[in-house]
Amino acid sequence: MVQKKPDSARIEHAVEVAKKAHEGQFRKTGEPYIVHPLAVKKILEEWGMDEDTIIAGILHDTVEDTDLTLEDIKKEFGESVAFLVDGVTKLSTARNGMRDIDTYLPATKDNFLRLMIALGDDIRVLIIKLADRLHNLRTLSALPPDKQKKIAKETLEVFAPLADRLNMGLLRVELADLSFKYVDPRRFEELKKLIETRNKSAEKSLKKIEEEVTAALKKEKIKFQLSGRVKSVYSLHKKLAKYDQNINAVYDLTALRVIVEDVTDCYLALGIIHSLYTPMNGRIKDYIAMPKQNGYQSIHTTVITKDKHVVEFQIRTKEMHEYAERGLAASFYYNEQKLTENYKKGKIEHLPTNLLWITELQMTAAKLREGKKVDLKKLKINLFADKIFVYTPKGDIIDLPKGALPLDFAYRLHSEIGDHVVGVKINGKMSNLNKRLEQGDIVEILTSKNQTPKTSWLDRIITSHARSKLLHRLNLINRPDDVIPKHKTKK
Ligand code: MN
Repeated sequence: MVQKKPDSARIEHAVEVAKKAHEGQFRKTGEPYIVHPLAVKKILEEWGMDEDTIIAGILHDTVEDTDLTLEDIKKEFGESVAFLVDGVTKLSTARNGMRDIDTYLPATKDNFLRLMIALGDDIRVLIIKLADRLHNLRTLSALPPDKQKKIAKETLEVFAPLADRLNMGLLRVELADLSFKYVDPRRFEELKKLIETRNKSAEKSLKKIEEEVTAALKKEKIKFQLSGRVKSVYSLHKKLAKYDQNINAVYDLTALRVIVEDVTDCYLALGIIHSLYTPMNGRIKDYIAMPKQNGYQSIHTTVITKDKHVVEFQIRTKEMHEYAERGLAASFYYNEQKLTENYKKGKIEHLPTNLLWITELQMTAAKLREGKKVDLKKLKINLFADKIFVYTPKGDIIDLPKGALPLDFAYRLHSEIGDHVVGVKINGKMSNLNKRLEQGDIVEILTSKNQTPKTSWLDRIITSHARSKLLHRLNLINRPDDVIPKHKTKK
């Protein structure tokens, strides 16, 4: 598909305006500030975004950090660009606002609403924010270590899952691996080496498999591309945590990707691969017939070769592949083209089903703007279906599974905090350790030096992280003959 070329004169003008506005400002790297908006511009261009989004990307820091006003932007570049810049600004001030409020109550919920509204207005706001975060991460080494860790952690908790929810696979991997390197540098290097060694030792057998599959597919006259897929360091880290660090339980360390012309060929290719190798029981996943929630489509199958090598195959069409890597950005682009075509024909086109949540979010945002009441709990914003986000009094975002309790939160902050909990304030009010946390809560943990971990706390946690920390402490503190009751932990 040929892209409508963005108007370069308008974009060049935006660059000039941004250069002038940021004149005399410098980044922590020592470079002139304009380097950052220009990098964001480049990322948005690579993602194939439209002209207004690119211009808003160039101007995204001007309203907050320079003398330029929203009015100026509206005059120079029109309503739509101003709208996007305003959204990005709101998104960051909504979060900064969290840090300033001293009276928690109504302000909290309002700030959360502001965040959601800013997101809901136009999904392109979020895409600009993601491009902004990506460049900030790429240049994170210039910041002091404590800031590095904080930004990297927030990216792992909020922005990488968001990229996943939008099915922007390439972005998710880059955000996650860049962040993980700062959050846990030693583990990062260790796993990176592990992946390299494993891949190296699998190289030969993989080559043989590639040749066999190529020959078989050619024989059936299927047009295809075959390539290796390397697992990202962070996703390996997460898998290992799930499988008790047993690397042999991770079957998709090496995967081969078969990209074919159409859906029929996907199933034909699957049949051919299964006739060559033995499929592993329960390891065939048909995400073509049943796409993932984010719209991801592919067939996955893990097979065992004659030489007892375990390999995962991922089979998909070109479109599916494009969507798996670029996700929302890709479909945004295709839909924009479709929208224009259909508009000319007098047809109204809706977003594909997997992106309907965006429409829902936009409708809710519109209602809120009109001052109508909306029950947020009824909203199916499935950005993070099984997660909630709560805040520390300083405004740091902590993600927890739904149903998490104050002790889960405390142990997530630090085990030193977890061990000494005497109480909790939720949204500024005294609460108790049995109270389940809710989306947007501001949670303040009260501690005392004299407090020690209690066995009864095992009933008041649901995360395996907090559970293992607590068990660890109890073992240290209790006499060896003390029996710790077994409790089920929810995942
Ligand atoms: Mn920025």
